[in-house]
Amino acid sequence: MSTSSETIALGQPTVGDEELAAVAEVFRSGWLAGAGPTCRMFEERFAAATGTAHALSTSNCGSALYLGLRVLGVRPGDEVIVGDYTFPATGHAVLQAGATPVFADVRPDIWSADPAAVEALITPRTVGILAVDVAGQPGDFDEYRAIADKHGLWLFEDAACAAGATYRDRPAGSLADLAAFSFHGRKGITAGEGGALVSDREDLIEHARKLHTYGIEPAFSRGTRGELPIPVFHEAGYNFRLSDVQAAIMNVQLDRLPDLVAARRSVARRYHQAFAELDGVRVPVELPDRGHPWQAYILTIAEELGRDRVALELRERGIQCNFGTYASHLQPVYGEQRPLPVSADIFRRHLAIPMHANLTEHEVDRVGDTVRAVVTELS
Ligand SMILES: *Cc1c(COP(=O)(O)O)cnc(C)c1O
Repeated sequence: MSTSSETIALGQPTVGDEELAAVAEVFRSGWLAGAGPTCRMFEERFAAATGTAHALSTSNCGSALYLGLRVLGVRPGDEVIVGDYTFPATGHAVLQAGATPVFADVRPDIWSADPAAVEALITPRTVGILAVDVAGQPGDFDEYRAIADKHGLWLFEDAACAAGATYRDRPAGSLADLAAFSFHGRKGITAGEGGALVSDREDLIEHARKLHTYGIEPAFSRGTRGELPIPVFHEAGYNFRLSDVQAAIMNVQLDRLPDLVAARRSVARRYHQAFAELDGVRVPVELPDRGHPWQAYILTIAEELGRDRVALELRERGIQCNFGTYASHLQPVYGEQRPLPVSADIFRRHLAIPMHANLTEHEVDRVGDTVRAVVTELS
């Protein structure tokens, strides 16, 4: 337990002896590179956990997003509609695939793409919708699906933060044609770095599997056949592999996922209570038909209070905090964009406070008390 002078971290991985033991086992096996037996085991288990038929482990979520767009056939000249409020890995992947991200404004309550905004942006060049589960809570996938079907588009879920989340009793990852996850240290389950691409479509995952290992079938699966196959390169692929060392960590993290999500949920409940009556602060919304994995707990601070003032004062008192995530359309890399008022507003007013599975009740209460004190003093 921390004393009151220690800083409370904004995010923190939950890893320990079991992960170390799994890593030791991979060391003994001799297969440390990616796309080996431990990755294969993780992929099968991760597909099952996300309610999909096929999974590919990747170096990170950015590479999974890029591979997904490539296997969906995205090409220069194409437009992809992207939920605006996200870490810009989402928009970057579209640019890297040579296409144009067209950003859609978001719902003011859950911050994922507003279905009406998405539909209004469709042009003859639109090929698909890349929707983000913001802070892990899934967006409106039944509505996105209806729009995609009506206009002949594909649907891709940026589920970077969404491991363990649900939408109408379906797991995140199973809500679109493809979904990409992140196992970065700030996400709910982590190997430090890492990612995955999941889908019911074997053709998409098997094409991505080749592209993620320089354009050929991985050495491990080649080596398991009773012949000497000489690979032939038809496409210039990449090395976007997760290593088997990381996959070993992920196998343990996947076992822990229900407990880690439960721990984050109880932190969220305690915060909700602490801030329920606090003027100037709005707590994050969890819709009744979704299971929120609470990758982040983000408060919306009243304009007159000043988010930055609140943040600096909290840091001064040992509470780590930060802005929420990014309004993509305001990032110069994407050039001149149409104004998106909801996303721009929350980008200025959001404040993420400590959220991870290691927080004690005492620490959560200290965060709650400190936020209340700071907000009251600055009001
Ligand atoms: C973290 C994050 C990413 C990037 O994940 P990496 O594994 O770091 O590539 C992409 N999209 C969203 C929504 C994220 O939160």
